Amino acid sequence: MNDRLGRLDGLGHLDERITRCRACPRLVEWREEVARTKRAAFADETYWGRPVPGFGPHDASLLIVGLAPAAHGGNRTGRMFTGDRSGEVLYRAMYDVGLASRPDAVDLDDGLTLHGVRITSPVHCAPPANKPTTTERDTCRPWLVRELELLRPTLRAVIVLGGFGWQAALPAFTEAGWTVPRPRPAFGHGARVDLGGLALFGCYHVSQRNTFTGRLTPHMLRGVLRTAAMEAGLDVAPFGATDLEPPPQAS
Ligand code: SF4
Repeated sequence: MNDRLGRLDGLGHLDERITRCRACPRLVEWREEVARTKRAAFADETYWGRPVPGFGPHDASLLIVGLAPAAHGGNRTGRMFTGDRSGEVLYRAMYDVGLASRPDAVDLDDGLTLHGVRITSPVHCAPPANKPTTTERDTCRPWLVRELELLRPTLRAVIVLGGFGWQAALPAFTEAGWTVPRPRPAFGHGARVDLGGLALFGCYHVSQRNTFTGRLTPHMLRGVLRTAAMEAGLDVAPFGATDLEPPPQAS
């Protein structure tokens, strides 16, 4: 086990340890500077300004892997995809499919709970321009590996949002004991890979660049969530009227 991790007895302990990590100098400086300077709209708030741990039940059967917290989203609120536009899209879709208790995520006290799903990221600190370096990605990987090991008894399916998360997560799955095909499977929206008891799904990231341009529509996102949730043995909401419409054409 990586020395930085020490002995970790459970996900609660892991999450707490992650919030105190300072292994990446550039990201520590950035996350704390953003927390000091703030965005004008949040000037009255106290930013989290630390690594953001995974969110969701410790016995999740479905895991969603993103990229990294947003500077004024997770880095402000302290919870994955909470308080930003990407989260508005993701949690709305999760609620529609029956995986979240409410359709939005505002702050740590909003009462949001997830049903059988946990959300994490391969990089736990907000990076400048949403772009961690490969060194930062690799430095943060032991946290993801340990999270996967702790979830392994119940985990049945994973959705990876975007190519960066895909590249970061595949080696972590190998280190956590699953079998990743060689050559490594390519990322694609709707890609499905069997890791030997774990179904891995690719999905375009819920970034504004993808959702504003229609590259990823709510219909497409609900489709991946629903498929992966059923693979994980979770109950999903019945199809709604919007699910029966033909998918909009992605540009
Ligand atoms: S990105 Fe990960 S490894 Fe780097 S400081 Fe943040 S929590 Fe630690």
